[in-house]
Amino acid sequence: MPITPEQQAEIEAARGAPQATLRAVSPGMEAHLYRAHEVLDHGFIRVIDYMGDDAAIVQAARVSYGAGTKHVSNDEGLIRYLMRHWHSTPFEMCEIKLHVKLPVFVARQWIRHRTANVNEYSARYSILDREFYIPHPSQLAAQSTVNNQGRGAVLEGEEAARVLEILKSDAGRAYDNYEAMLSPEGPDGAPQQGLARELARMNLPMNIYTQWYWKVDLHNLFHFLRLRADAHAQYEIRVYADEICKVVADWVPLAFAAFEDYRMGGVNLSGKAMACLRRMLKGETVTQESSGMSKGEWREFMAAVG
Ligand SMILES: Cc1cc2nc3c(=O)[nH]c(=O)nc-3n(C[C@H](O)[C@H](O)[C@H](O)COP(=O)(O)OP(=O)(O)OC[C@H]3O[C@@H](n4cnc5c(N)ncnc54)[C@H](O)[C@@H]3O)c2cc1C
Repeated sequence: MPITPEQQAEIEAARGAPQATLRAVSPGMEAHLYRAHEVLDHGFIRVIDYMGDDAAIVQAARVSYGAGTKHVSNDEGLIRYLMRHWHSTPFEMCEIKLHVKLPVFVARQWIRHRTANVNEYSARYSILDREFYIPHPSQLAAQSTVNNQGRGAVLEGEEAARVLEILKSDAGRAYDNYEAMLSPEGPDGAPQQGLARELARMNLPMNIYTQWYWKVDLHNLFHFLRLRADAHAQYEIRVYADEICKVVADWVPLAFAAFEDYRMGGVNLSGKAMACLRRMLKGETVTQESSGMSKGEWREFMAAVG
């Protein structure tokens, strides 16, 4: 269960005590504040705090005294200009702090994004919960034959059942042993010293859940989302990124729309690719051999323009 009834009550209590503020407020983000958005079987993301809105980006770009411009269309045009020309620092003026519950193997990919502030649940101090990510059968797939870094067809029948059983029983056994090693009681009920939490955890599998607070500015969040909400990212991190995208779309709708258009929907073309495109627009037939591009570059170029 991602959130217990007690935790849900705490969230509702926090939402039930609003305060007047002079700070910039994003109505879209206020609707998300503190609420958990479930991801995978036990995970979630929830917004703990945020700073700024679309107007704050405009305000920083103009180094102005008040809010953004008087007209939303002006703000939109400026935000799109900033995004288009990689004028990134105004986006750094907005920040978001998330509470994330995620499997450890997802956390290992996530933590590679170094431009955030992180504080993780301490398994030296506390005992981890018996919560393991077990993929939905639709995600239990074979190694891809075309992509070394991905999955292919979904496992079926007896193999799928066997794999699921291995995942569940290994996790259960590892956790039973974790508890047994920590326990002040031995197998026969006799007192034992109990292994330190910082050591007992090393036997746990990577699908156990961890939690952290993750604070990042909007520019670096967009960089994270560009890489992790992308089809090339592993499904288990992509679903977190997709959920964050929905929140960001409500928080800073103009900036998110520009990000979707220029970063998620756009492509970077190399000098060679641009030269080919110009030749093609003039009616010339260009092939991979005459393009000057490698097979891989050509394949990606055709996928982009085709
Ligand atoms: C599909 C996919 C596959 C991947 N496969 C692998 C893999 O096989 N093996 C692997 O190890 N990683 C892999 N990665 C991780 C990837 O190489 C990056 O580490 C990760 O995406 C974080 O990107 P980043 O460094 O740009 O982000 P951040 O750490 O958030 O940095 C943002 C930007 O800040 C700058 N920056 C931050 N820190 C430094 C620094 N110390 N020095 C210089 N510039 C800095 C860089 O410009 C960087 O782009 C993969 C990522 C993806 C999305």
